[in-house]
Amino acid sequence: DVKRDPKIQIARLKLPILGEEQRIMELVNENEFVIVAGETGSGKTTQLPQFLYEAGYAETKMIGVTEPRRVATVAMSQRVAFELGLTSKHVSYLMRFEGNVSKDTKIKFMTDGVLLKEIQSDFLLSKYSVIIIDEAHERSVYTDILLGLLSRIVPLRLKRGIPLRLIIMSATLRVEDFTENTRLFKIPPPVIKVESRQFPVTVHFNKNTYSDYLKEAYKKTVKIHTRLPEGGVLIFVTGQQEVHYLVRKLRASFPYRKDVDYSKLITKKVTNEVDTALDSEPEDIESDDDEVEKEMKRIRKARRKAKKKGRTLPKINLDDYDMPEDDGQADLVSDDDSEAHLSDSDAEEDSLTPVIKSCRQPLWVLPLYSMLGSAKQALVFDPPPVGARLCVVSTDVAETSLTIPGVKYVVDCGKKKMRVYDHTTGASAWRVVWTSQASAEQRAGRAGRTAAGHAYRLYSSAVFQHDCVPHYEPDLCRRPVDDLLLCMKCMGIDKVVNFPYPTAPDRLQLRLAEKRLEVLGILEKPVVKNTRRKDNDEILKVTPLGKAVSAFPLLPRYGKMLALSHQFNLLPYTIALVSALTVQEVMTGKADNWPATGNTLLLGDPGVLLRAVGAAEYSFVKGEEELFCAKYGLREKAIKEIRKLRKQLTSEINLSVSGIDLTIDPEMKPPDDKQARLLRQLLLSGLGDQVGRKIGLEEVKEGEDKRKFKYAYHCANLEEPVFLHSGSILRKVIPEWVVYQELYETGGEDKRKMVMRNVAA
Ligand code: ADP
Ligand code: MG
Repeated sequence: DVKRDPKIQIARLKLPILGEEQRIMELVNENEFVIVAGETGSGKTTQLPQFLYEAGYAETKMIGVTEPRRVATVAMSQRVAFELGLTSKHVSYLMRFEGNVSKDTKIKFMTDGVLLKEIQSDFLLSKYSVIIIDEAHERSVYTDILLGLLSRIVPLRLKRGIPLRLIIMSATLRVEDFTENTRLFKIPPPVIKVESRQFPVTVHFNKNTYSDYLKEAYKKTVKIHTRLPEGGVLIFVTGQQEVHYLVRKLRASFPYRKDVDYSKLITKKVTNEVDTALDSEPEDIESDDDEVEKEMKRIRKARRKAKKKGRTLPKINLDDYDMPEDDGQADLVSDDDSEAHLSDSDAEEDSLTPVIKSCRQPLWVLPLYSMLGSAKQALVFDPPPVGARLCVVSTDVAETSLTIPGVKYVVDCGKKKMRVYDHTTGASAWRVVWTSQASAEQRAGRAGRTAAGHAYRLYSSAVFQHDCVPHYEPDLCRRPVDDLLLCMKCMGIDKVVNFPYPTAPDRLQLRLAEKRLEVLGILEKPVVKNTRRKDNDEILKVTPLGKAVSAFPLLPRYGKMLALSHQFNLLPYTIALVSALTVQEVMTGKADNWPATGNTLLLGDPGVLLRAVGAAEYSFVKGEEELFCAKYGLREKAIKEIRKLRKQLTSEINLSVSGIDLTIDPEMKPPDDKQARLLRQLLLSGLGDQVGRKIGLEEVKEGEDKRKFKYAYHCANLEEPVFLHSGSILRKVIPEWVVYQELYETGGEDKRKMVMRNVAA
């Protein structure tokens, strides 16, 4: 009873997956697990839910679809509703803080985190007849955990006689991770490969790799727009700010004006001549400069002739470039042409201007990133206004999650933002890194959906071969295990070590993490009476403290320090302290810059950090941060990172603890004696497994040089002595007992020794 708009029906029929509907549905009907793999844009996300809907899977229960990205959750639910001629009441979405699910919802798109939460309260997922895990190749932590859980839930449902289907959808990469993992699926599920019409994409590398990839992206886009035949441009950069920067710059260069009727400006299509001329020079777009130069000369000549004869000028194709009226300017243009790809000077950007002014075709520039409002996101699916060329500036959401119609050129900066974890401090930070080779191929593929296309990589082929890994490890294996373990325990997954992961993290590491969390009081053995089951001993449960700790985006030991700080006005200090401790190499100068006495002195190196961060904040407010950091030996980038983390933690605590409204005070006073003592206790509460005791001189063996042991400590179960690091402020006091953040090794082979960093009494 589905009534689709005829236009939609025509568009659907162009998708190769439509031809596979029967085969797919037969497999789904006959199998509990099915894997559907296909190129991005082949119609998996938009069509499969419709197949299931039409086959009756939503009659008594819901069809659930999970997405790792919010962007796709909204966009895809809207698209499917539209194609089926239904409203958001029936095809709905749900993600954290937002959604439109109703009691009549038939198809429910949700983020993977939302479905995980639902499993906690309804383990058998009794409201669903089928679950589609979309974009499984992205390997988000939640998706991986969902796959593990569902591999067990589906057989349970079968046993109860109310079967649940699981469909795993993925781009064609690394499907073996799911099929060849016998812990996940004893019998490998059937895989359907959806063939797709992928047109050839010519990949062009830059000869050189410049660090300012935004400038390169801008230049390349200008060249494409002013010189190459029509077709949408898709630019990949790394984040929201970069997207906005480029959007602004490109819009300013090729403005679209509502009051102009661009359809009148359009002349004949680009000649095939130019087309083939470009095709014959596939190395790089720059290599067509000679062709362009020749073409310009020809036009210039034609104009001069025409001027002499008093005839009207020939019309010039807008997809190419227009001619500046003045010959002097024209020379400027050719200067640029001959130099643009050779030099990286600043003058070059200015000299591009004449070319830009002369190209009157507007660029229809649209931003695309995860946090963009859904109405604005949807604009990328509409055709651009008549006469304008579509240009989407996107983060990696356009890599596989969303398919933008009509893209013929891809400009790829080769970078992406990735959450990088520091395994010693547990700090995570968003870093800009090279994409994997697999990602680069995906991005290039976006240019070949509707016709043959071109992908311009703004880096050299050497970078591709040597700096881009084939693919990144799944998030679950890159995260510190302490964090992952607590996260899973909080979800009610008890036997974390035995869990059927698609790709398992290191088991020994998991066990060690479990021990650490137990020592910290974040996990505990449950008090179970009269139990005969031995294995119950091994199951550690999350304590109430652990629940509080898991709310913070920090390694559990730092989360614990925060969770215990809601007293004596300590929170602002702990936030600053924890932020500073999770950023590495903050101080390059001497601790002596930060005089301290008494209890504040005993707070040791963390105390020094605290004062430095406080003072840096004050200098920042006064606009003197750079000078200040240089003068006092602070790494400016570290200080900026600390500020970001302080802001984030402050606002998260404000949101989650009622009756609290913290701010970052640039005039934060140093802690008083009592607070300093409490802060030491807090450090001990989080680092209690990292304690050192001063080695007394009487303990030094006969024949050893006693002076060498001035700063020596015994730590945990280490045989060898461990030393206060040379910059530690505690060398002034040498306390009997210390707590430290980290141990590390220094010195060459013969002078090797273990040193403690960030030590407090
Ligand atoms: P896959 O999931 O296999 O990557 P999709 O189902 O997302 O493929 O996309 C199939 C086709 O539907 C693509 O050509 C895409 O451009 C088109 N499409 C998806 N969403 C929209 C939309 N909101 N508006 C117009 N076209 C869309
Ligand atoms: Mg998809």
